[in-house]
Amino acid sequence: MDTGQNNEFYFIKTNVWLSVVSTINGMLCVGCLEKRLKRQLRADDFTSASINSPKHGAKSLRLLDRLTKK
Ligand SMILES: [Zn+2]
Repeated sequence: MDTGQNNEFYFIKTNVWLSVVSTINGMLCVGCLEKRLKRQLRADDFTSASINSPKHGAKSLRLLDRLTKK
């Protein structure tokens, strides 16, 4: 899924990303990444990058949910 189309721009911690994606580049939507991780994302998984701030631009409901999940 195109992450730009559904407001799912985010930065995930490198070790989490590399555990399921073979390259550092690229983007996956929340659904595709969770399918690979076989679990839901949570606040811990995201970096402190400002793009991850709930106030930074439009975010999908599920991304907002994961950004605040403990
Ligand atoms: Zn997808």
